Amino acid sequence: TDFGFERVALGEKQGRVDDVFRSVAKRYDLMNDLMSAGLHRAWKAQLIAMLRPPKGRSFRHLDVAGGTGDIAFRSLEAGGPQTEVTVLDINEAMLRVGAERAGERYAGRIDFVTGNAESLPLPDAAFDAYTIAFGIRNVPRIEAALAEARRVLKPGGRFLCLEFSKVDMPVLDRIYDAYSFHVIPRIGARVAGDAESYRYLVESIRRFPSPGAFAGMIEAAGLRHVTHRSLSGGIVAIHSGWKV
Ligand code: SAM
Repeated sequence: TDFGFERVALGEKQGRVDDVFRSVAKRYDLMNDLMSAGLHRAWKAQLIAMLRPPKGRSFRHLDVAGGTGDIAFRSLEAGGPQTEVTVLDINEAMLRVGAERAGERYAGRIDFVTGNAESLPLPDAAFDAYTIAFGIRNVPRIEAALAEARRVLKPGGRFLCLEFSKVDMPVLDRIYDAYSFHVIPRIGARVAGDAESYRYLVESIRRFPSPGAFAGMIEAAGLRHVTHRSLSGGIVAIHSGWKV
């Protein structure tokens, strides 16, 4: 049946994504800096500026597809002693690198959970914030992930998603295309020994819905007051929503 076919295709997609991140886990942070020319740091800082973890009260933050912990560490630094972050990722190799980076610095305030964004192994209404940075694009069933985001948020909780978007500036779009199709796979080949995987990631950016369409999906999942803003000429966008 069509449904059976779709299931196979989606399963393959997740397998592919898992291969990519297993192969790059150790070099992931370096790759990020190289491929975005350091820009990912500014984009992540912007996400945390919107999140504003409070200084003086309890704040439970879930970072899905949290990989090596970048968003989590920034949230813990910005928040107060009662800010706690759960980093969830489907790939244990990425989480292991994150746990090593964390060391003892945030003992008791951070935990690492292996799991799938499509079916979070976490209770209902447990988190003040759900973030996902450069993760949702890799998830085969985006609708399922958004429904799970809503489920685990407390009423009043915030959803924030940082993801590659559509470059909407003339000239920049050409440069960006050339960079994506020629430079990124080469860096992938040199540093991670894997050009094919990086070609696949570039493709996944092309296929991701436009910011307006993605906002519609977030609304369809039952989140409210959905807004989005693009950064760096549309290279990335941050979508925001609330569970009411
Ligand atoms: N959030 C981190 C950052 O911004 O540096 C890591 C982003 S990395 C590009 C994408 C991450 O998504 C990988 O660590 C990968 O293992 C994870 N991932 C892919 N599919 C997933 C899924 N279905 N559920 C949870 N995590 C997933």
